[in-house]
Amino acid sequence: MAPVDNRPTVIIAGPPTSNGDLHVGHVAGPYVGGDVYARYLRATGRPVVWASCTDDMQTYVVTTAQRLGTTPEELVARSTESIRTTFEAMGISLDGFSPTDDGYRALVYDYVQRLYDAGKFRLRTVRLPWGERSQKFLVEGFVGGSCPTCLDDSRGGFCETCGHPIDFDGLIEPSSILDPGEPVSYREATILVLPMEEYRERLIEYHARRAGRWRPHVVTLMREVLAKPLPDYPITYPVEWGLPAPFAETPGQTINAWLEGMPASIYCTGWAQRHRGGNPPADDDAWRAGNDARAIVFMGFDPLYVWGLVHIAELMAHDGRYVLTDTLHVNEFYELEHEKFSTSKGHVVWARDLVAEVPRDVVRFYLCVSAPEHARTNFSRATLDKIAGERLVRPWNDLAGSLAKLCVEIGDAGPLPVSPESPAYAAAIVNRFASCYELDSFSLARAADLVVQYTGRLRARAAAALADDLDRDARRLRAGDLFLEVRALVSGASPILADLAARTDTPISFDADAYQVTTVAALALPGLDLRMAPAGPSEDN
Ligand SMILES: [Zn+2]
Repeated sequence: MAPVDNRPTVIIAGPPTSNGDLHVGHVAGPYVGGDVYARYLRATGRPVVWASCTDDMQTYVVTTAQRLGTTPEELVARSTESIRTTFEAMGISLDGFSPTDDGYRALVYDYVQRLYDAGKFRLRTVRLPWGERSQKFLVEGFVGGSCPTCLDDSRGGFCETCGHPIDFDGLIEPSSILDPGEPVSYREATILVLPMEEYRERLIEYHARRAGRWRPHVVTLMREVLAKPLPDYPITYPVEWGLPAPFAETPGQTINAWLEGMPASIYCTGWAQRHRGGNPPADDDAWRAGNDARAIVFMGFDPLYVWGLVHIAELMAHDGRYVLTDTLHVNEFYELEHEKFSTSKGHVVWARDLVAEVPRDVVRFYLCVSAPEHARTNFSRATLDKIAGERLVRPWNDLAGSLAKLCVEIGDAGPLPVSPESPAYAAAIVNRFASCYELDSFSLARAADLVVQYTGRLRARAAAALADDLDRDARRLRAGDLFLEVRALVSGASPILADLAARTDTPISFDADAYQVTTVAALALPGLDLRMAPAGPSEDN
């Protein structure tokens, strides 16, 4: 393993758009990933802030609100509350989930005004799709068409399929999303942009330094995009939904919602620090370069152009005020029964519904074991039952049952002796888990597989300890060895099986030295279920 990086860590999951609740596909990648990483860092005692917020100003809020027959404002309010409670229901242990409040807006305006005052933006006249009936510009989520790079269906801005940016007038056969039959032409608009080409050399160097430790698909996309001229990135748009742009050159325009991603990440970090009782001197303190934080973003592949190039160029344009994002931890799409999740088509499993039926530890295990790390993977309820039942729940409960029997046979509750070689085995277990949780080799799927592997090993050894004809001292020694490895297994599994670890009366540690012991206490291992226990009768009745 690489040497441990002890810099304070900021973990951000790409802020969810507040145009609906989170489905399993949303949660499976960035939120479970960020949560497992945050729980691991906390268990190792390293300083970490794990934060998120909502992305309210996206054009997708407007298009969804129209489909649902509501207002964008009402949709944002309802969705924000849904997302917050879904995070809680899933056990996503955010240090803070910040609101879109006055402090948020102040930080966004401070962030863009600094760039404006430093002369980082350029005024450009560009050709934008224009709705002939609505007499409005169609940008981002308001316009559909085909991607000029991969030809798949896309909205404006960038392509969700191939990840490439799409220039202002680049979509093939543009059409209106809000009014599908509307004739679409082009009109010129004068907007402020970030001239991305001015950052080319620094962006190439930034990505070259990281190419060895980032996932191959990320490295490939960045190389492809950087091999072509980088289009100017819109800072303002002539559309109504968004924060009003404060610049004299662009009257009546709004700030491109994607630009808010970086100041939103900075704001929710400071908010989370305060929420858990800290007192940062400024909302953006954690991201100031002087604090040398390690900023990690967990995200899906689709907006990688924005997070991997535009946001990095913005941070560079701040001329040393902020750290640059250290790592973009990117997952692929997660499908439902081998089709894309689609809220509008009702092809969806809501995360809150799933954890109302299946204990969330079991859900988290399955989302990890099937995580879309390098290619798209699939969620299926039947497969969840089969995989989680056969690989986790049954072996785990066999192990817990055998350990309980062993405790009865041993009879006393005193410390159990441990063989001289046993601490090394326990250390091997936590070291293997740590390798899956350290960022350069982070893998939810491999960590979940380790839970299966070590549960299987200990189940077999516990059964043997019961079956073998042993005298009392030999049985106590076998039990001591088992319980030491069980402690290591519970620690290793704790970022995924968080409730189970909290219910197990054992210290959580990834430090191999913590297992250098000569005795160990027996412990009662809680069981796991595939179904939530039915609610008991209310005491009022
Ligand atoms: Zn494409």
